[in-house]
Amino acid sequence: MKAILDHVGIAVKDLSAALAFYRDALGLEVEAPEEVTSQRVRAHFVPVGESKLELLEATAPESAIARYVEKRGPGLHHITLRVDDLDAVVNQLRSRGIRLIDEHPRPGAEGSTIAFIHPSSTHGVLVELKQPAMANQSAIRHPPSAISRFTLGELELVSLSDGYLRLDGGLMFGIVPKAEWSVVAPSDDRNRVTLGMRPLIVRGARTMIIDAGLGRKGDTAFDDAYGVDHRYDLDRALADARLAPEDIDIVLASHLSFDHAGGFTVRDASGRLRPRFPRAQYIVRRGEWEDATHLHSLNTARCRADDYRPLAEAGVLQLVDDDVTIMPGVKVKRTGGPSTHHQVVTIESGGKRAAFAADLIPTTGHVTESWIPALDLYPMDTLAAKRAFNADAVAREVLVFFYHDPSVAAGYIRKEGGHLRMIPALS
Ligand SMILES: [Zn+2]
Repeated sequence: MKAILDHVGIAVKDLSAALAFYRDALGLEVEAPEEVTSQRVRAHFVPVGESKLELLEATAPESAIARYVEKRGPGLHHITLRVDDLDAVVNQLRSRGIRLIDEHPRPGAEGSTIAFIHPSSTHGVLVELKQPAMANQSAIRHPPSAISRFTLGELELVSLSDGYLRLDGGLMFGIVPKAEWSVVAPSDDRNRVTLGMRPLIVRGARTMIIDAGLGRKGDTAFDDAYGVDHRYDLDRALADARLAPEDIDIVLASHLSFDHAGGFTVRDASGRLRPRFPRAQYIVRRGEWEDATHLHSLNTARCRADDYRPLAEAGVLQLVDDDVTIMPGVKVKRTGGPSTHHQVVTIESGGKRAAFAADLIPTTGHVTESWIPALDLYPMDTLAAKRAFNADAVAREVLVFFYHDPSVAAGYIRKEGGHLRMIPALS
């Protein structure tokens, strides 16, 4: 289990006297007071780095805080640990005979769920566990709509999932103000929005996977920073699609960012990195390979050599230079934008068309022209490529696959009254 110290609750007798110390004497910034009527307390949060202090004053004599102060005097009341999966943590504690005040998680403030552990099991400290409200909570399912299949002429398309990750909302939506993007992608208490990772299988003459999610390299600090949620992952998705890693002939990379290429390699029992799909040729654009193996300060954070270097060492890497046909009906097209050699994939069979938009249009919200991640190295190139992509998608009824959308796998882009609209087709 991973847990982060969310806040430390301090029971006080008199809030204004407490503020005279924490705010005035210490000089800490204090958030506006909150009245929690059901608990009969007034609370002030005092941010201290990633965590907060919570000053709690009773507003009625029957409040738990009033009774606490009465019995023990003011002081440390509880600590709150933030966890990703409260149900799992509570089950784990129960199975170990830990005494819980809340046998089942219950609703807390701001859409969170909480459960208290009895101090008799925690060596004298009241411990609250809290799972914050998830971004896009209403839309996100666990497991995510595991796989969706679509027949395109002679080809079969299967949208898979490698779970979720979270990324700073400002990074994801660029010049769009938070007041606008937070409507479609609510952020968590670290300002992160939830993104899916949806590799796409194309089955025809051969079996291809486009991008492969984040994979598992076992880096807990990384997983925490990016809020990685692997309760459902690519291994399970492949199994649900009745595919084994050995069935994949071709692995095609839109680009080599870690959230697309992370699943290209795995660690074997001896800790050595090897290609995850043992029979596959891995196809990467040469320019992207050159960039990823010669990183500069603006793109070091997006690439991890462990995801792709082992491919060259294993002799399974195939570099392509142009917009070529990868297998019948499947072509790559360079867009630039997110990275210099970022490419999308166009798929065509029996007069029907689909496209894998990768990071050119990562979520359905990004169909709008000006919604371009601040992460993109060349936003003006993204804009130009997206205009062309959208125009083609509208004119030729292209089924567009959105790699990062947490709830919609694919949809059609329509133009109505001068505005672009996305009509979901697969979840
Ligand atoms: Zn991405």
